[in-house]
Amino acid sequence: MLNSAAAARRALPSIDRLLKLDAVTGLIQTHGRPLVVETLRAVIDEHRSLLAKNAALPPPDDDALAAQCAKQLRALAQPSLRAVFNLTGTVLHTNLGRALYPQVAADAATDAMTRAVNLEFDLGGGARGERDSHVEAWLQRLTGAEAAVVVNNNAAAVYLVLNSLAPKKEVIVSRGELVEIGGAFRIPDIMARAGCKLKEVGTTNRTHAHDFEQAIGPRTAAIMKVHASNYAIQGFTASVPEAELAAIAHQHELPFINDLGSGMLIDLEAYGLPHEPTPRETIASGADIVTFSGDKLLGGPQCGLIVGRQDLIAKIRKNPMKRALRVDKVRLAALEAVLRLYADPVRLMRELPTLRLLTRPQTDIEAQARRVLPALAAAVGNHADAKIIACSSQIGSGALPVDALPSAGIALTPRAKRKSGAADALSSAFRALPVPVIGHIKDGAFILDLRCLDDESGFIAQLAQLQLPTHAH
Ligand SMILES: *Cc1c(COP(=O)(O)O)cnc(C)c1O
Repeated sequence: MLNSAAAARRALPSIDRLLKLDAVTGLIQTHGRPLVVETLRAVIDEHRSLLAKNAALPPPDDDALAAQCAKQLRALAQPSLRAVFNLTGTVLHTNLGRALYPQVAADAATDAMTRAVNLEFDLGGGARGERDSHVEAWLQRLTGAEAAVVVNNNAAAVYLVLNSLAPKKEVIVSRGELVEIGGAFRIPDIMARAGCKLKEVGTTNRTHAHDFEQAIGPRTAAIMKVHASNYAIQGFTASVPEAELAAIAHQHELPFINDLGSGMLIDLEAYGLPHEPTPRETIASGADIVTFSGDKLLGGPQCGLIVGRQDLIAKIRKNPMKRALRVDKVRLAALEAVLRLYADPVRLMRELPTLRLLTRPQTDIEAQARRVLPALAAAVGNHADAKIIACSSQIGSGALPVDALPSAGIALTPRAKRKSGAADALSSAFRALPVPVIGHIKDGAFILDLRCLDDESGFIAQLAQLQLPTHAH
């Protein structure tokens, strides 16, 4: 028994012999020698342990080993981070990368990646410059603020503001605004890490001006408002208008900080979308510091924007943590290009993917659904019924949580008896396509909301490769 197992293992070829095969030489050209050798070893090891368990197994031939190696290398060559079709119906999907860069931003980013740039170099004087200077004037113009700082994301912006303006001091926030944003961003936790003491006032549904006034004491460093990003409190509610909060803060010589979260730079109502407070309005109503994300409604690269009073911004910029939270040249280049688009509303509408996708009319999406329906129906065959449906998209990333955008899509309803498992199987088959298709399951059907389907022909072309499990018949 032992001997026969040893004999079977001896029957496995040497790595050197396999490396001489034509098929393997081809693999070396594609993947490089080290990876091919590593993979061949893994494949041989796998067979060695199989043979150790069952010596009766026929030893694999060289071609089979090479094919197995090729398969593993193909999987390895697939990038981990790759393009998908976002047909979830959520336009700014945090798990799918939020905003898509407009082409001008992608071009600017590529340039900054592949060439030397004047990132911190003043071309006029030839001296050291400030990296935020490339976008500061645009942010001043677009928000009416005196100054601006850019950091890694809005969570970093909130952290840096609090840590700079209120270390070891109290910051007053309404209980109705102690939000948690997906992915473990909680205002109380950020506050603690920033070294501030959170002073909660009011109740979950109602907070009044006198709640803030009574809470102000010698240890108070700021009043903060947080945009209720991903939820809405409805019914018997009260909150203090921003201008009034700002006035209370200013009477006590305290800064009023407003974390807008999404913070759209322009009035969305002009585009037929629900209103979202803009940094300009917020500054105008008395906020001293406003923070918002670059990759939510603004439609740019991931970053956090801090705009506001010159003296406070100077303090924030001097915080040593700014160095740890700063953005790189690539995102700064993209941000500058996006902010430039905002100067021209006509170009903005045409070129900013976020705005274009959010304002796509339902009739347009429905027409697209009619075009892709036959290919989808053919791809799922007798596994599911394909039907055009009206649905509603979400803006996502916490913006306007209660407002849904009328959209259209295709529902794939499994014909199998156990519908829920069958819908999961459909969903996973679509995720296994070369460009994974991400939808969502609702009432036992797999739903594809077509609002964000840009590459229609690419989508249709790969459907022929859809592989559905045979047991779903
Ligand atoms: C999204 C959001 C954040 C976090 O912003 P990121 O850019 O994701 O770090 C902070 N505050 C509010 C109110 C938000 O909506």
